[in-house]
Amino acid sequence: QVKYGGRGHHRMYCETDPGASRKFILEKDLGLALEREQLFLHYQPQIDSGTLELKGVEALIRWNHPEFGLVSPAEFIPIAEESGHIGAIGGWVLSEACTQAKRWSDEGSPIKVGVNLSPQQLHRPDIADQVRNVLEQTGLPPELLDLEITESAALSRPELVLVRLQELKRLGLTISVDDFGTGYSSLSYLETFPVDKIKIARQFTSKLENRQVNRMIVSHIVDLARTLEMSVIAEGVESENQAAILRAIECVEMQGYLFGHPVPPEEISRMLPLQPEL
Ligand code: C2E
Ligand code: CA
Ligand code: CA
Repeated sequence: QVKYGGRGHHRMYCETDPGASRKFILEKDLGLALEREQLFLHYQPQIDSGTLELKGVEALIRWNHPEFGLVSPAEFIPIAEESGHIGAIGGWVLSEACTQAKRWSDEGSPIKVGVNLSPQQLHRPDIADQVRNVLEQTGLPPELLDLEITESAALSRPELVLVRLQELKRLGLTISVDDFGTGYSSLSYLETFPVDKIKIARQFTSKLENRQVNRMIVSHIVDLARTLEMSVIAEGVESENQAAILRAIECVEMQGYLFGHPVPPEEISRMLPLQPEL
């Protein structure tokens, strides 16, 4: 039996519980994943609902584990947060994504890059300094960086997060609320926080066709964004039918398998308009 630390308690490693041992291994290996170059980013297209133009991409982390193969970020990001590895990993994601977006911008395609910020990153007192350094080092124009935060991260410590967001906004970047509508939260924070864009959670998009009431909810979120002068993007768009409904209710942007899975940067480059030879 091996003991490993949880949050203020100890759990036993148990051979009959493969979940526990997998988590134990992942937590141990996560510390080395960066230097062993097992982490990489994929990018998913975000398109303009009207013109179908590529407006931006969301950076999504991938881990190629030597034993388990590809491990989902839904599994390892929470482990990274618990174990404290998220600081280093999050910093790397930011720097890698900004470097890539600068490359696209230099090639004549200034598309925005969305980077997910974990709650712990957002709560760091020096997060704005970190982001400023990355922007300076990569030379990416700040307006091409969009930071995605979740409602729960923002609302767990609202006064502190408000200050952090104001510092970040002063750098010239934009802020999106990820998975909007899944947090059972009050909407009043939207007015207080310097938010530029609402990302409608996949849970809503996927049910658009089922019932009239879901369509009404999404339509109201779109109206709310417009009233607050924010942009709005629907996540998880998988069918033409969903896209048609979203266009009809004037959702500004869309993201989902219908328009493209998360892919390596080279594949995004191939979707960009060819630049005329100078
Ligand atoms: P998220 O930020 O909500 O990212 C969207 C997830 O939905 C991605 O899963 C994406 O691959 C998936 N997705 C996109 N379009 C569709 C669709 O049409 N249908 C379906 N069924 N799924 C779609 P992924 O890449 O596995 O990431 C899972 C979560 O892990 C992300 O959810 C995000 O919370 C977290 N994550 C990923 N990369 C990072 C990162 O660099 N930093 C942090 N802190 N979290 C990350
Ligand atoms: Ca996201
Ligand atoms: Ca999301």
